[in-house]
Amino acid sequence: MMTSEDCIFCKIVSGEIPSKRVYEDDVCVAFNDLSPQAPTHILIIPRDHFESLDKAGRDQKDTLGHMLLSAAEIAREKGFAEKGYRVVINTNADGGQTVFHLHIHLLAGRPFVFPPG
Ligand code: 5GP
Ligand code: ZN
Repeated sequence: MMTSEDCIFCKIVSGEIPSKRVYEDDVCVAFNDLSPQAPTHILIIPRDHFESLDKAGRDQKDTLGHMLLSAAEIAREKGFAEKGYRVVINTNADGGQTVFHLHIHLLAGRPFVFPPG
């Protein structure tokens, strides 16, 4: 298992930092965002630490696919899939990434505009 000592999301995976988990399996953990930007705002993170989509390689192909499909499953299970939702992966500075452990934002419960700000 790859972890990074000072990474808050690794600490969420280990349980050192508490979170409200909504889903977990052997590959990923999903929990409510501390500062929600929509009525539903869930973060889906891999158990293994890697910094960003920019740092992901073909080795992470299965993990990334698994995370994306988990987002779709959570959306169906929570009942907002049909109405709609948005998945976002902020990447590096201009992408608005603030936590450098790759994560998918799963947002729902209000309409979203495009392009985003
Ligand atoms: P980013 O800006 O990197 O795309 O997203 C990081 C997200 O992590 C933000 O939406 C922020 O609110 C969330 N976040 C940061 N620290 C914590 C924490 O300790 N717990 C939880 N649940 N969310 C966090
Ligand atoms: Zn990490």
